[in-house]
Amino acid sequence: MRWPFLTYFRAGYRGTMPIKIRSESDMPPKDFKCKQCGHCCINLNGAFTATAYEKDIQLWREQGRQDILDWARAIHPGGDNYVYDLWIDPSTGDDAQECPWLKKLPDQDKYVCLIHEVKPTHDREFPKTRQHAEEESCKGFEP
Ligand code: SF4
Repeated sequence: MRWPFLTYFRAGYRGTMPIKIRSESDMPPKDFKCKQCGHCCINLNGAFTATAYEKDIQLWREQGRQDILDWARAIHPGGDNYVYDLWIDPSTGDDAQECPWLKKLPDQDKYVCLIHEVKPTHDREFPKTRQHAEEESCKGFEP
């Protein structure tokens, strides 16, 4: 299975161990191999200012990931609907200026996602297709 970003720093997880939430038929597309360049999480529009789905919030609750929940802010547009703003710095209440979960590997031009296995759906679904990758300058389909 090829996933964007390798899974590192498991020892740093709090709460229960993360579960795998993808199957072989899920993202990413066939022939995709993330190069860990960090471009999608640093430069793309909405890279770290997206919203979470209710299922993301539910997963984090189930996993005891209060550390992630602390960075999500519920917005109630009305009715039974909630959306969750990401990522909101819990110490200031302001939008984060960079993804709090993206870390650069020492002495390498590569990045890892500290919450890879439970990251938001929005992030897990990137890129949706080869065309999407090419449009967003993702190198995941390059040799
Ligand atoms: S832009 Fe593509 S290759 Fe680079 S880190 Fe994101 S998914 Fe991986």
